[in-house]
Amino acid sequence: MSCIFCEIAKGNIPSNKVYEDDKVLAFYDLDPQAPVHVLIIPKEHITSADDINEQNSSIVAHVFEAAAKITKQLGLTNGYRIVNNCGEDGGQSVKHLHFHLLGGRSMEWPPG
Ligand code: AMP
Repeated sequence: MSCIFCEIAKGNIPSNKVYEDDKVLAFYDLDPQAPVHVLIIPKEHITSADDINEQNSSIVAHVFEAAAKITKQLGLTNGYRIVNNCGEDGGQSVKHLHFHLLGGRSMEWPPG
């Protein structure tokens, strides 16, 4: 089954890249919900947060390490939000684990 974020990770579909290392890729969301809206994805296909387990959970720490670099790179000195949508009720539309990094404006709580 083809996965759009796997294709982006392989470079087969173009993205506006912000950060890349051997394990993760970060790129600007096509439909930004904040002045800064970046998606951070593992290059390895993991369908959702519900599929994190003892074997693959280190990638989540790596995503947050990358996020700390990206926020400094982008100058988000006043804070930001990292969101993961999981499954239907969580509002997940792309079935490849990803974290939304949102910044550049004040965020509301609770989210809708
Ligand atoms: P979610 O609804 O949490 O699954 O988020 C999926 C996100 O991927 C949405 O915010 C989309 O705007 C974004 N998106 C989908 N396709 C692309 C793409 N080709 N490049 C960048 N962002 C995308």
